[in-house]
Amino acid sequence: MKTRVCIFLFMTVVNPLSLLCYQPNFLWNGKQCAVVLTYDDGLVVHLTNVIPLLDSVGFKGTFYIPPSFPDFQRHVEEWKRVAATGHELGNHTLFHPCNSSLPGREWVPMEYRLECYSMKRISDEIELANFILTTLDGKKSRTFAYTCGDRMVGTVSYHEVIEYNFPAARGVGGNGVTYAEIDKYNIPSVVVNGQSGDELIAHVENALQNNHLVVFLFHGVGGGHAYNCSLDAHRALISYLNQRKNVIWVAPLVEVAEFLKQKVLVR
Ligand SMILES: [Zn+2]
Repeated sequence: MKTRVCIFLFMTVVNPLSLLCYQPNFLWNGKQCAVVLTYDDGLVVHLTNVIPLLDSVGFKGTFYIPPSFPDFQRHVEEWKRVAATGHELGNHTLFHPCNSSLPGREWVPMEYRLECYSMKRISDEIELANFILTTLDGKKSRTFAYTCGDRMVGTVSYHEVIEYNFPAARGVGGNGVTYAEIDKYNIPSVVVNGQSGDELIAHVENALQNNHLVVFLFHGVGGGHAYNCSLDAHRALISYLNQRKNVIWVAPLVEVAEFLKQKVLVR
């Protein structure tokens, strides 16, 4: 024991920088990694199965809502209350257009084929969705999630519309990323569909090891959508995050975007 103490003292006196080797890297708002919990499409199960659990441990999520969806409209007063308690209402366009020419997209209504939109139409739809969400939460800033992960109208990217209106945008698919790797206008996300709690937690463990930002993309939780996460798996992930609050920063994407903006300003 004496020898170990002597070695430690020798290292720190001779080379104070060696102390840094014992420090984890607290890049993310003073934590080792950042986790964003996002939930798409304004589903009723988010109100019943997700928000009470997040609130019980003090986590705030990002909920991407297309205001034209009837389920959202039927529960608009509840969503107002959700926003008032600090959850983010994210923009997910008005009518949720997607590119119908891709495989498995037969369900896209003719009127909302993204490949047939003009730049003006997608811009109007996104700005009107922002206006509606602002009437609910009073917020001037929120993030965007690409519907079906599609980022083109016809053959042209609509990134300029997104960069003009939002501090950041979430993509569909991918894993955790380091601070240096982040493309703020296409942040990757882990698409959740059928994984176990352990599989979801493995993404966070990886983020802890590598100082990553990891964004989860949920649809159904305990049902409510073809893409589903079981209640058990969701609860296991939230419980894991809650037990490691001291090293994991859990925040809505708009807060992470604001943090990234500040980091750029102080660089
Ligand atoms: Zn969606």
